[in-house]
Amino acid sequence: MKIAIMGAMPEEVAPILEKIGTYKTTEYAGNKYYEATYKGTELVVAYSKIGKVFSTLTATTMIEHFSCDVLLFSGVAGGINPELKIGDLIVATKLSQHDLDITAFGHPMGYVPEGSVFVETDKDLLKLSKEVASELGKKVIEGVIATGDQFVHDSSMKENIVKHFNADALEMEGGSVAVVCNALNVPFFILRAISDTADTDASFSFDEFMESSAIISAEFIMKMVDKVISK
Ligand code: SAH
Repeated sequence: MKIAIMGAMPEEVAPILEKIGTYKTTEYAGNKYYEATYKGTELVVAYSKIGKVFSTLTATTMIEHFSCDVLLFSGVAGGINPELKIGDLIVATKLSQHDLDITAFGHPMGYVPEGSVFVETDKDLLKLSKEVASELGKKVIEGVIATGDQFVHDSSMKENIVKHFNADALEMEGGSVAVVCNALNVPFFILRAISDTADTDASFSFDEFMESSAIISAEFIMKMVDKVISK
């Protein structure tokens, strides 16, 4: 088994690389991929750069070029569900693209023909994450993550996303990674720690908490790696 671990930004994968220790760096399609053997299992770690297009490229590369057969995403997100405070963890049960809009033709937001509004994550990985959460004594919320190519820092935009997708958190990569993994039949898991609440002061909050929240997410992901390896 080969496990892909993805983030969008350097800060999201740095704490993972620290845990792994030694790795081989390969450049491919404008990104760096870090390959390691960890507890006897092969890992490929990479950050994609921000947004749906870059994350699509990286997820596809991890699967098609590096032959990974499970993908774990670690990163930060804007919280919508009021239960989610800065530093809290959310695991996606399903994801959507909140900026995919051909409603002019009578379709619902997030839908294109032959696609679906939501892509569900892997049930077995969700189950494993419950075990990790209880072993760590950590509260983890399961919910809907909405993805789009905007940093959301506006309450009315946030409300609009809730209206269409009933989302609990939003970010800029999960929905596209979900589409890739679903199409290529690779089980995937999307974890995010909250860095801001996607309203007017989101960019200040993001700058203050992105690094600490990225570490919280990375620590949980490494426990997930242990679980996946031991199954
Ligand atoms: N500060 C960065 C830009 C960060 S963009 C820079 O200047 O380079 C926000 C990143 O964090 C994205 O990868 C996204 O997935 C996540 N994110 C956190 N809060 C978000 C929010 N409120 N809206 C959208 N994405 C958010």
